[in-house]
Amino acid sequence: MWIFLNDRFVRKKDALISVFDHGFLYGDGVYETLRAYGGRIFRLRQHLARLSRSASLIGLDIPFVEQDFITVLREAMKRNDLSDAYLRITISRGEGNIGLDPRLCPYPTVVVISLPLQPYPVELFNTGVSLALVNVRRNLAAALPPMIKSLNFLNNILAKQEASRAGGFDGLMLNGEGHIAECTTSNIFFVKDGCVYTPSVACGILDGITRETVLSLAREQALPTEEGRYRPDALLEADECFLTNTTMEIMPVQDIDKRPIGKERPGPVTDRLRELFRANLPRFLE
Ligand code: PLP
Repeated sequence: MWIFLNDRFVRKKDALISVFDHGFLYGDGVYETLRAYGGRIFRLRQHLARLSRSASLIGLDIPFVEQDFITVLREAMKRNDLSDAYLRITISRGEGNIGLDPRLCPYPTVVVISLPLQPYPVELFNTGVSLALVNVRRNLAAALPPMIKSLNFLNNILAKQEASRAGGFDGLMLNGEGHIAECTTSNIFFVKDGCVYTPSVACGILDGITRETVLSLAREQALPTEEGRYRPDALLEADECFLTNTTMEIMPVQDIDKRPIGKERPGPVTDRLRELFRANLPRFLE
């Protein structure tokens, strides 16, 4: 397996970084997860734009321009003979002395990993997944903005652990005000009386690229949509609920804390959106 490290492709066993890398020491860095279908990358420009935004929000200068990443991502898939791929770009602050000051690290570390995509079990898309409403709250936007896709993932890891202990596939986090935010690596939607609802970005969530894709597909079809602030009760009374992210696409939710959501899984609106997503996929691939 070939890994891109800083300025070249190396074998996995040679893809080593310093124990003084601030990504390792402090979680100081950003990343993106991308997905390729038949060698073509889903919403490539949007992912690279978000990477650039995350980096700029932590004051990290990326030593690459957009086209450099595109070249590396394509080369990574070629070298590893991948067609349906999971791609991850990680950029850490780089190696430096002990201390929080980013100026200790003159060069960021850039890593691109490409792996065969491990699809979620097909039956999950039919039965839906179980969520646990966790006590861990989503990071306060005023403390560590969820819009930064950062290497510091402990907030979500604590939520995931709590969900696993409760027997959930994933944990649903609320924000500091008690409104629904998102799951540990996905955005959440629910459907009530034909309207598609999702927490607004102002709730303190990552503005998922799949979330935005689903919203625009729904709007193109004149399906009613609303982004807002919602209490968990609204979700528990919904007709349908689903999650979105780049590797999962659209995943129905069966129950939350063992309370079933709606009657049908996947529900008719979720099903329609999944069909729309699949039918329109070619125009999102590059
Ligand atoms: N929310 C969080 C916290 C995430 O980590 C992710 C993806 O990793 C998402 C939402 C979904 O984002 P996207 O649709 O861009 O993959």
